This record gives sequence, C-alpha cells and structure tokens, in this order.
Amino acid sequence: MSSTLNIVIPCYNEHDALPLTIPVLKNILDGLKVSGKVSENSRVVLVDDGSKDDTWSIIKAASDTDGKTFSGVKLSRNGGTQKGLLAGTDAAVNIFGADFIISTDADLQDDIQTVEKMTDLFNSGTDVVYGVRNDRTADTGLKKLTAQGFYKLSRAMGIESVYNHSDYRMLSRRVCLHLLSYRESDVFIRNIVPKIGYRSDTVEYARLARNAGTTKYNFIKLFALAISGIVSSSLRPVRLIFGASALSALIGIAYFIAACATGYVKHSLISALWIVCAVITASIAIVGEYAGRAYIESKHRPNYFIEEIAGETNISEVKN
Ligand code: UDP
Ligand code: MG
Repeated sequence: MSSTLNIVIPCYNEHDALPLTIPVLKNILDGLKVSGKVSENSRVVLVDDGSKDDTWSIIKAASDTDGKTFSGVKLSRNGGTQKGLLAGTDAAVNIFGADFIISTDADLQDDIQTVEKMTDLFNSGTDVVYGVRNDRTADTGLKKLTAQGFYKLSRAMGIESVYNHSDYRMLSRRVCLHLLSYRESDVFIRNIVPKIGYRSDTVEYARLARNAGTTKYNFIKLFALAISGIVSSSLRPVRLIFGASALSALIGIAYFIAACATGYVKHSLISALWIVCAVITASIAIVGEYAGRAYIESKHRPNYFIEEIAGETNISEVKN
C-alpha cells in the first residue's frame, strides 16, 4: 500500500501566487497518485498565516471545489513562516494522517518538479530530504548576498546546517513527530532537523523566480530571521565577546605603551575610549538578546492557534 503525502505550504498575503500555484500542485499530486507513488488520501495543506488579503477565501474555495486534494488551516494571526510550517506539520500528521510531508513556499520558487524525487527517496526508506539550491541566478543581488552570508555565518557560529537549504524539505512522519516535540517558541526548523538524525539525502535544483506577487521578507524581517536562526541555535556569539574583550585589553595596553613612548596621549585616549565603549555596548546587547530570549522561552507559550480548518478531516486511519 502506498504512503500518504501531505504537501505543506505556509501562505501569507498570497493573493497573487495561489491561483497559479493551486493547479500546479493538483497536477503534481494527481500524477503521483496515478503512478501509485502516494496514496489516494494524499493532499495539499495550505496554511493561512494570518493573511490580511483574501488568501483564506482562495484556500477555502480550493477546498470547497476539491476537498480531497486541498485542505486549509487558518491561523488566528500572523506568526511567520516557521510557525506556519509547524502548524501545517502538526495538522498533516495529527489530522490528515500523513506518512510524510514535503514543505515548500506558496510562490513555487523551489522547483516543485523535484517533489517526485523526494517521494521516491521516502519510498526507498529515507526520512529526511533537504532541497538544496544549486543555482540562484533568479534571486536578487541582496537576497543572494544575505542568504549566502547567513549560511557562512551559521557555520562560523558552529551551527550544523545544510548549505543553500531553506524550507523545501521532505520529512517522514516520525521525524515530523520529533520536530513537533521541540517546544521552543524561537523555532528555526532548518537548524533543528539535522539534530533529529535518521537517514537523510539532498535533492538539488535551480531556484526560480516568484511565480507572482512580492516577497514577504524585507531586509528588516530577513535580519530578524537571521538573528533568530543564530541566537536560537548557538552560544558562540556570547563566547566571542570574551575574545573581543581580550583583544580590546591588548589594544589598550599597546596604546598605553605607545602613549608613554611618544608622550602624545590625547588622541590615543579618545580612540581607545570609543573602541572600548563599542565593545562593551555590543557585549551587553548580545548578552541581553540571549537573556531576553531565555525569559520568553521560560513562559512556554503556545506557538500558534488554529482558528479554522477547511476540507475533509474525517481521515479513518489512526497512526502512531
Ligand atoms: N510566509 C508566511 N508568513 C510570513 C511571511 C511569509 O507564511 O509572515 C510564507 C509566504 O507566503 C511564502 C513563504 O513563507 O509561502 C516564503 O515567503 P517569501 O516567498 O515571501 O520569502 P522569500 O522566498 O522571498 O525569502
Ligand atoms: Mg519566495
């Protein structure tokens, strides 16, 4: 018997992209069903992450027309892609009986044609498949620079992550359940999945342009996501402060020796003061960032609330 696939898609203000994306997904899923690679219960789970446009009406219309293929999960407010993905994963395994999920973006920038390869890998016993972008010519200069800089910074911070992998991935049911057992609110899925383990593989593809609409991530949102990605998974920035203060002390001693030798104290004092102030304030800011996040995590707040579900939910199979 073939396994049940759920394609999980977080959607925020995707009025322009969804009407193009929905038929493409239907086509791909139907093809997989006909070839017997996935079960007839397989579906697409569209998560509306608190959109302000008519994204939810579009999702509802798709599930009203074809409730066997399209299901909708409406979150009570916008919480960001990571929380949307978690909510979709939760619904996929706990409501729609998924044996495996594939998550991707609503604009189909991550080549959806590789869903079949991911499915084949699942069927041959792989638990995790990372979609890896091997060509970014379609990305803007800023996107390329920030994305690649971020991967390199993550590595430098000792974070185990897959280079050029974002949120396009296949996860088996057991990996989904493990992922859902991480209760943190500052969740960055791509850094968690490698920690779960199991047999993994990669599928490479060229990143495409958005099919319609505009990116939901401006520079400030991307910056906040990058900080989250690093602070939620690495303590190295705080440890680096120690190195910075040692360096600053060395510079101070060098200035002191130079000032004694030359007798020209004024300028060296001012510049040393600036350097020391910058190091101290940056250190306080980094420690504060971690302390603040520890405080938020200590509250164990729920990550999202599901306001409404659209589509068939009477899945008869009960799975563990
Ligand atoms: N998204 C979301 N919540 C948000 C922002 C974005 O669910 O607050 C979704 C969005 O609809 C898309 C995916 O996350 O499906 C990635 O967003 P986008 O394509 O705008 O990001 P980019 O590809 O430009 O990094
Ligand atoms: Mg995109």
